[in-house]
Amino acid sequence: MSEHAVAPYRNDFLREVEKNVEEGHWVKMCMQCGVCAGSCPLGNAWAHPPQEIFMMIRAGKREEVLTSDSMWMCTSCYNCIVRCPRQLPITHIMHGLANYAHRLGLAPKGQPTQATATLFWNNLIKKGRVNELTFSLALYFKDGFVQGIKNALGMQSIGLGLMKAKRLNPMEILGGHGVKDQSGLQAMIAKAREIEDRKKGFSK
Ligand code: SF4
Ligand code: SF4
Repeated sequence: MSEHAVAPYRNDFLREVEKNVEEGHWVKMCMQCGVCAGSCPLGNAWAHPPQEIFMMIRAGKREEVLTSDSMWMCTSCYNCIVRCPRQLPITHIMHGLANYAHRLGLAPKGQPTQATATLFWNNLIKKGRVNELTFSLALYFKDGFVQGIKNALGMQSIGLGLMKAKRLNPMEILGGHGVKDQSGLQAMIAKAREIEDRKKGFSK
């Protein structure tokens, strides 16, 4: 499909997605066959399955797409990608849209996948390794102290089992271990952020 032929039919949101969302330039290639929606194991639970999201992007429904929790439901099973007759990287577009909505502050508040992914990332970049103990505690206590105690008590047999099997070290509460080159790690993350921000128009 030539760029020239497509240009007159683009609306602003499609252009925004093409420019700022991971693999967003593929959206215009969707032929609305519905195979992805029918193949998605969680499709019935989504307010808008992938096929519909692509149609909404092309229809300029910016707010409805970016505030939707649908793309946060993607489990990366890749069923849709292997079946799409147009070979759209649907999984990556779903994650790209979720990430873009998150960065714009439009993602639905309290969405569990978003909350977990944010806690995981913040934990990982501290030392370059996930501290499983502090990550679990952050997850348990994300909805407040009382709920945190309830969650921790509910999971205590699993926690104790992991400690017995030496899969969870209680001493990690003191900070845990990380990669050797901490300053190199932080420099790498800062550079990656700078490149990403520039690419997606977030840098000032
Ligand atoms: S399977 Fe591919 S072409 Fe068909 S609706 Fe889904 S994304 Fe579009
Ligand atoms: S990769 Fe995501 S969108 Fe695709 S079928 Fe699996 S859960 Fe659905």
